[in-house]
Amino acid sequence: MVSRVIPVDTFDLVIFGGTGDLARRKIFPGLYRRFMAGQMNADSRIIGAARAKNSDEQFRAMIHDSLLEFVPKDRQDDKVIEAFLARIDYVSIDAKEESGWTKLKSTVRANVVRAFYFSVAPALFGDLAERLHAHAITDATSRVVVEKPFGRDLATAKALNATLAKYFAETQIYRIDHYLGKETVQNLMAVRFANILFEPIWKAQYIDHVQITVAETVGVDGRGAYYDKSGAMRDMVQNHMMQLLCLIAMEPPYHFDPDAVRDEKLKVIRALEPVTVNDIVRGQYLAGGGEGGYIEHSENPNSKTESYVALRVNVANWRWKGTPFYLRTGKRLRARYSEIAITFKEPPHSIFDDAKGWKANVLVIRLQPNEGMNLMVMIKEPGPGGMRLMQVPLDMTFADALGQDAEDVPDAYERLIMDVIRGNQTLFMRGDEVEAAWAWTDPIIQGWEARGDKPQDYDAGSSGPEDALMLLHKDGRRWREIKG
Ligand code: NAP
Repeated sequence: MVSRVIPVDTFDLVIFGGTGDLARRKIFPGLYRRFMAGQMNADSRIIGAARAKNSDEQFRAMIHDSLLEFVPKDRQDDKVIEAFLARIDYVSIDAKEESGWTKLKSTVRANVVRAFYFSVAPALFGDLAERLHAHAITDATSRVVVEKPFGRDLATAKALNATLAKYFAETQIYRIDHYLGKETVQNLMAVRFANILFEPIWKAQYIDHVQITVAETVGVDGRGAYYDKSGAMRDMVQNHMMQLLCLIAMEPPYHFDPDAVRDEKLKVIRALEPVTVNDIVRGQYLAGGGEGGYIEHSENPNSKTESYVALRVNVANWRWKGTPFYLRTGKRLRARYSEIAITFKEPPHSIFDDAKGWKANVLVIRLQPNEGMNLMVMIKEPGPGGMRLMQVPLDMTFADALGQDAEDVPDAYERLIMDVIRGNQTLFMRGDEVEAAWAWTDPIIQGWEARGDKPQDYDAGSSGPEDALMLLHKDGRRWREIKG
């Protein structure tokens, strides 16, 4: 099936940090793919900005190299690449200095959609916002895109929100959480709210528990110093996993509209119960498989930062009272694997003798690898021999079901950048949402910092620390297997 492409309006997109890792690995390859798909029209332009003194030609050559490195070979078309590169300019600019801003002002057109992507350290957001405003490069119709991390606690997130609010209205600010740009994450909303099947049973009465897993095989080598100030709770739970939890737990919004959706997510965050010490397990990976452990990677021999965290979360409202949400995420685990699994309860009465063959229905939403959904259902085992039961997956892997090449499924960044140009904030975090998430996360982190809790060791290539298994065992449940 060929997906429908609706071209967006003509735009000028300025990417501050245009020479950085994120721009080269994700933003420019994503824009190239949208250009190739015909979504970005030939009048639109991308302006890279950073301190380095590049000419337009040098910058285009750098982006050319990035496309060859990060776009799959079968999507590299010389003619399209050439046409795409012709849409790119470069301005040398320092967020903290005055030089370059006049040139940027004369480069950006007034009569097109203007968007400014802050793909730089958050410490520079204020300087960029202030200078864009002072040089009248932005107006009330411009949009700004900001990257994670959005603060490291409630106080810093509030300060960032206040800084941006000096120059931009909330309707102009696009806080990226790339998990929201994933196809399956949006499909979670479609499955819930475009079908009658699930919503009537989407509650504690029928759902036993929910597991959200984001497992990575890589460690923090190469960015250990940065990660050591963050940890799994700040890096993954407060933002990405919280967003996933919200989409599962939220009430149906009255319309698929930015504020309607974000209002419902905010209510979920506010309904989260405080987490106690018994509801959390933190871990640090050991050396193994020829690689150093967390301690070596972080370059801090006394580090108490967690590279793994598992927690039990309760949503205190009528819909979810009694259904725990178990979250876990970690580095150097057995496989790169992310999924949401919604496990339903037992039928109230079994009419079959083969009760031992019975397994709970599970709706599995897989984020990686191979985005897709599986609904585990019971059927009769084929053949003679009586009524024996077995569980099979109703496989809804999108690439297969839609006859799509997996490479054609847009990457989260492509989708989100096009949403910025369209002016659609539904898949971006609102300021109050981010603050509410920090307000829930802060006491958890402050608790272990005040006690000086040390994370448990776990083997590289394992499923995480032993105690994480116990977190579910003591509730009579088990984690799903982390598999590659
Ligand atoms: P990076 O590789 O260190 O790149 C930083 C960029 O900022 C460079 O282009 C740098 O170029 C520019 N820059 C630095 N100081 C500047 C200044 N004073 N004025 C103007 N430009 C300046 O960082 P990154 O990994 O791309 O990350 C960028 C942002 O995305 C960060 O907020 C990060 O947290 C976030 N993020 C990154 C990833 C990722 O996978 N990389 C994932 C999620 C979020 P010059 O030195 O030439 O100025």
